[in-house]
This record gives sequence, C-alpha cells and structure tokens, in this order.
Amino acid sequence: MPLDEIAASLYAWDLADEGVDHCLDVLASRSRVNSAYLVGLMHEEKRPLHARFYPHNPVRRMYMPEDSRAYWKPDPAQYPGEIKPLTSDRDFLKGTDWLQVLIDGARARGMRTGCEISHTILDAAVARAEFPHVLQRDVFGEILGVWGGRTGGRGLPCLNHPEVQTYLVGLFRDLVLNYDVDYVQTCLILFGPGTSDAGTLGPVDESWVGWLNVATGGCFCSACKAQAESEGLDWGAITDEVRHLASMARMDGLAAQHERQLLDEANVAQSTLLLENDAFVAWLQFRKRSVNRVFGMVREATRAAGRDVEFRYNTYMANPEKAGLDFRSAFAHVDSVRESDYSDQRGTLEGVGWKRSKLMKVRRSLREDQKLIAALGVRPNATPETLRLSVKAAVEAGADGLSLGHYDGATMERLDAVADGVREWEGTAEFWQPLDADSPAVGV
Ligand SMILES: [Zn+2]
Repeated sequence: MPLDEIAASLYAWDLADEGVDHCLDVLASRSRVNSAYLVGLMHEEKRPLHARFYPHNPVRRMYMPEDSRAYWKPDPAQYPGEIKPLTSDRDFLKGTDWLQVLIDGARARGMRTGCEISHTILDAAVARAEFPHVLQRDVFGEILGVWGGRTGGRGLPCLNHPEVQTYLVGLFRDLVLNYDVDYVQTCLILFGPGTSDAGTLGPVDESWVGWLNVATGGCFCSACKAQAESEGLDWGAITDEVRHLASMARMDGLAAQHERQLLDEANVAQSTLLLENDAFVAWLQFRKRSVNRVFGMVREATRAAGRDVEFRYNTYMANPEKAGLDFRSAFAHVDSVRESDYSDQRGTLEGVGWKRSKLMKVRRSLREDQKLIAALGVRPNATPETLRLSVKAAVEAGADGLSLGHYDGATMERLDAVADGVREWEGTAEFWQPLDADSPAVGV
C-alpha cells in the first residue's frame, strides 16, 4: 500500500520557539510531511529526549516541561468528575491555544492534523496529593510508579477507576468536539508491568523471569477488585497467587528466596509459569479485558464528534502484553495504529530487524480497513541508512504511512533520509507510473 500519510509531532514549545510556519515548512519540504499533530497533553520529560541539547532550536538548548499539562483550552463542560486537566503556568506558553495554532498552520498547507494524549494524564505530585485513591496499586497495596516500579515517586492512574475513565473520556470528547482534528492519538500507559521492563524498543522478552516480574505490577486497587468480582473472578485466589509470585520476583523473605533459587536452577520456560499458575493467568486476562474496555470507551468518545475522526493508538512498548495490551483484541476498537518502535535508533541492521518484526506484529493484528503508521526515529541515534531501511520495513509490512518522532531532536540529514527512503523504496503511487512515451524502452 502507498505510504500516503507522513506525519510529524510537534510540541507547544517548538511552535513558540521556532514558529509554526517554519516547523511545518521544514517538515514538508524535507520529509514530505503532510500530517502534523500536537503532543497536546505531555508528561514531564526532558527535551530533547536522547541528545543532550536541541540541534536546531534558536531560543533554548533544552526544555524541562511541566508534568502532564494540556496545551489546548480545555472545555470545562467535558470534565464532570473530580479530575480536571491542568494547563501551563509558564509565561511563554500560558494563555495560547497551541492546538489551534498548529491546526491553523496545518490546514493552511492542506495537511491532515491531530492531537496526542501522551503517556500520562495526571501530574504526579497532584495525583499523589489529591487523588491517591485513583492510582494503581501493587499486590502489597503500594502505589505504583509511572513505569510500574515501586520507587518511581510517581503515580499511574488505574484504568478501572470510574473517575479516571470519566476524565479520559472527557479529554477525547473535548478534542473531537471543539477542534478540527482528523485523528486523536494516544500512547497512554496502561497497567504497570512492575519490575518487569516492558521496554520501549528491542526484541521480545522470551524469559520466564520477565513474566514473573509482572506479578509486581498493577493493579490491585479497590476499583479493580470490584470490577473483577463483578466478572465472577475469585479475587482472593488471585491476590494470594500473585503475592506469592511477586515475593519470589523480589526474593522477599527466606522461603521465597529459596523457591526462587530453585526456579533459577531449573529448566523452566514462560509456558511452565503460565500453565502452573491459573489465578495469575486469570489476572492477566482480566487486565487485558480492562484495557480493551477502555479502548472501547475512547472509541465511543471519538464517535461523539458526529464526523470521521480517527482513534489512533500509539504503541510504546517492546513487550506490550506485560502492560495488559493484546494487540488483536484491543485494536478491534481503533482506526489506526502508530507503531512507535524506534529500534532504528540503535543505528544497526539488527535494530531495523526488530522494528520490521514489530510492524508485522501490528499488521497481523489489524483488519484490512485499519491503517498501520510506522514511526521513524529521526533523531541522532538513528542513521540515514537505518532510516531508509526502516522505510523499506514499513513498505514490506504493508504500512499506510510514516510518523516522525520527534521534530525537536531531528537533524536535517535525518529528515532528508525519510524522503530519500520513500523514493528509494518506491513508497508512494507516484513511483508506480508508466514511463513517458519518449523514454528508452525497457528490456529491449
Ligand atoms: Zn486498579
């Protein structure tokens, strides 16, 4: 299929520092970008993420965003629950509707446009102070950190909590009802994988230890208990078994330590662990159903627009199953998927191979009418060669488009490599045309 959409993300501070026209002109002319979206609700993360400093920002060397702020003008009517979106307190950002700024710039160029709800939707400090009851808990009752660990000092809202669901649905309704967007995208963090690293890039984790460690993840909050019991699950049996596995994962106590050592020295596999622990598996399936339900809610929220707005999930994990995400069942609720594997940033052929297999994994999970958008890491850790080969991988995996991450850390050489790759691997229909009548005959 042709790579008809080439998307790129922008942050509010990119627009403030460089100007929307400059950003979009660079992206369109160098990388054939025809779709631009604002990371409209962005978590706390130093920018640029990988390089120490921005390669082309004329105003600042780097930027430390506030946590989980909305960069549009939220409509209070869409937030009937106790949680409301926070906006920026920074002088150079506050008071401006940055989503509208981007939409105006994109539409003036005939581009598609959208908005992303990024990994976290709640300021961590505010969540801990005001909404601890909506945060994910591990089986020991401790609040999970944002990536699932216990020491992250953050909080991860539970997808089964009604207040979180009300807030999440409100965010999507707000965007589709009040803004001229073609798609709403999210890479929302799902269930905490505990000390098991779900990874953002790299190969699939085939170790049994990885799955044992998921037992230290979430969630065991009161909302999960209520939901599970409404589904007829034996929550007591689940918590007993998961606590036992989590104790082995953490080597917590002499008995657990001894049992873990036996496991380490035995030739067990993932299948051993899963076949042996029925209640653990019941909990994993429960998380999967919970994720699927939330995807269904978001889809309904986007339908409220009464027009065609794509719900696009943006994957963020090398091992998404550890967070409760089963591609095939969850993606029944989406219109498109941005496969956010950035293994091209390893700068190696092996990395490109991981990316290709991840794209294949998504494609096999999608219906024929659902779009696959392949992310490209246009940042310095990637090379022009791995980017061109990543375009090849996207073509081979039946992708419908590309999506660049992220403009702020991109170099011009890497942006050029996107257009070079599309040309080299004949990614769009313009390369599939008959030769002119006066062209030399082929094969004579
Ligand atoms: Zn929960």
